[in-house]
Amino acid sequence: MKECRIAHVAAAILLAVALAFVEVSLAATEHPTYDLAVAFDLAKGKIVGSAKIEARPGAELTITRGDLRILSLRNGSRRVVPDARASDPLTLRAEGPVEIRYEGSFDGSDVDVIDRDRILLRNIWYPVVEGTYRYRLKAKVPREFVAVSEGDYVRRTEAGGEVTFAFDLPYPQRDWDGITFVASRQWASRHAMYRDIPLSVYLLRRNAARLEDTVRQAQRYLQQLEALLGPYPFKRLVIAENPVPIGYSLSMLTYILLSQDSVEAEAAEDSALNHEIAHAWFGNGVLADYEGGNWGEGLASYFSDHLENERLGRGWERRQRMMAANQSFVAGRAESPLSEFEQSSDQPSRIIGYAKAALVVHMLRRQAGDERFFSAMRSFVSENLYRAASWSELRKTFERATATDLGKLCASD
Ligand SMILES: [Zn+2]
Repeated sequence: MKECRIAHVAAAILLAVALAFVEVSLAATEHPTYDLAVAFDLAKGKIVGSAKIEARPGAELTITRGDLRILSLRNGSRRVVPDARASDPLTLRAEGPVEIRYEGSFDGSDVDVIDRDRILLRNIWYPVVEGTYRYRLKAKVPREFVAVSEGDYVRRTEAGGEVTFAFDLPYPQRDWDGITFVASRQWASRHAMYRDIPLSVYLLRRNAARLEDTVRQAQRYLQQLEALLGPYPFKRLVIAENPVPIGYSLSMLTYILLSQDSVEAEAAEDSALNHEIAHAWFGNGVLADYEGGNWGEGLASYFSDHLENERLGRGWERRQRMMAANQSFVAGRAESPLSEFEQSSDQPSRIIGYAKAALVVHMLRRQAGDERFFSAMRSFVSENLYRAASWSELRKTFERATATDLGKLCASD
């Protein structure tokens, strides 16, 4: 593979990542459904769930269960006695819909936790079936809890001191993305609108004074990003402070999980909220096809931190900081092409995936000019919405928008 250094023309790196690309169409109608219903025993840190997986007879299912215990399994009309010692993942040939009842314990020793005050589930908290599914989740929690998960549509119903939250996500999700769940009894909330999009903010009660500001900031970031990239891709947005103190924020389809540190941080120009909202377009609206590198962090960083610094007249300083970081921690010691970045695992990989990629995006903008650059970005989003795209798609969009062969630029540099 040809390697191009950051100091070269931006296009060079795009050329270097030109790898095989498989277009993954994620049109909702083509994908089977995964209906999940869960309840909790908070005192014991336990989840009990029932998964109904749509499958045509003859289809081979590969099911990863991790530390979950399968209580019963029905394959079509046949009841299968689960063998606790069977290997993981287990595979079976479907005879019709597959129904799995299971339980699991999460004591917080890993990232997932279930206790009396909060629930956070991001890892293997339901049997993960290989492939792309359209997920629907029903979660029963005590009345004083609020629950958040991916979903354009959410219904809350109350019965017998418990509430059920029903989430409907009309966008098929790949198995390794899946769905996540967070709930807390310790949130203060504010509900507002951004255009016709319901916007809810949940912060831990000690940060209740920040609710109004968070709503206003989210509205501003949405407005700025929409002006550049086209409509926000989902029908609702929830911003929740993570009830578990982990060191990073996350962006899921339709919701954002802010780290406790970032909620209390004051630096508006490097806002985690802005970055995670930008992921609604880059990484969630258009999914990153990791074959050929994860471009989502670079674009989210550019359209949040970098543009915010530019608005404040500090774009140049921001770029200089990114280049200095690249010089100090990556150049000559830990260089690798953007095509190999999947997620940040250490400081050099973080600098490559976020800062170096953002600098490449900036160079593309300089080369194309603002009008063509932003028009190309809007095309990239609208043409790849709700499906996976790679650096190659981005390159193709830019070549079309600028009538330039980015490959030739690289070769002549
Ligand atoms: Zn990110």
